[in-house]
Amino acid sequence: MKNDLTGKIHRLGIMGGTFDPIHYGHLVAAEMARAEFKLDKVLFIPTGTPPHKKRRDISAGKLRYEMVKCAIQDNSAFDISALEIEREGPSYTVETLRVLRRKWPNHELYFITGSDALLEIFSWREAEEIFNLIQFIGAARPGFDASDFLLKVQQEHPETQGKIHYLEVPALAISSTDIRARVQRGEPIRYLLPESVRLFLEQRGLYKGKA
Ligand code: NAP
Repeated sequence: MKNDLTGKIHRLGIMGGTFDPIHYGHLVAAEMARAEFKLDKVLFIPTGTPPHKKRRDISAGKLRYEMVKCAIQDNSAFDISALEIEREGPSYTVETLRVLRRKWPNHELYFITGSDALLEIFSWREAEEIFNLIQFIGAARPGFDASDFLLKVQQEHPETQGKIHYLEVPALAISSTDIRARVQRGEPIRYLLPESVRLFLEQRGLYKGKA
């Protein structure tokens, strides 16, 4: 992705998440963000070792990476990066964004993630620096109300004004937690995620022994 000769600024979405597993909610969110914010590309970055995770049984990064790769293969506007799963230690978003900023100094960068994750953003490492590097798009499940959060942010962090956007994504009624629980209970997960991902996790017996 290079700036073209007209000097057009390219817009890149960074889709950050654990993706354990990736499902249609994530894919619809990325596609809606691409269209709504006129993004040239959306780069999926599966988290390596999530810094805040309470779950200890997260699937190996390599498996989550493979599932994302399967899921995005038919969309030429989607791409994937192994940046976080190859990096040692906890996956601090600020470190990822510094690398991406160096690579694309003139692009408009948007970090797309779950709206619930964004509620915690001021507890992330170097949160204020993050807002110098990128804007945010919170992909919200139906019924999610960010107004209290945004009001608080406006009062406590006025410098971030206009840098947090929300996008309601009805397909986010699907959740990775629910898919894992369904597999464990032996319930169907077909049509909640791409068939290639369903076959992948079935072949490897993922989530069978976990709640
Ligand atoms: P999470 O706690 O697993 O997810 C929070 C909620 O957001 C869940 O409901 C999840 O649904 C949803 N979600 C997650 N990623 C999404 C996406 N890309 N699009 C739509 N919905 C999404 O959050 P996480 O995956 O660990 O973290 C999200 C991102 O924030 C990651 O890139 C992570 O590295 C970053 N983060 C950084 C820090 C830090 O730098 N200190 C701390 C926390 C998180 P599903 O379960 O269905 O996906």
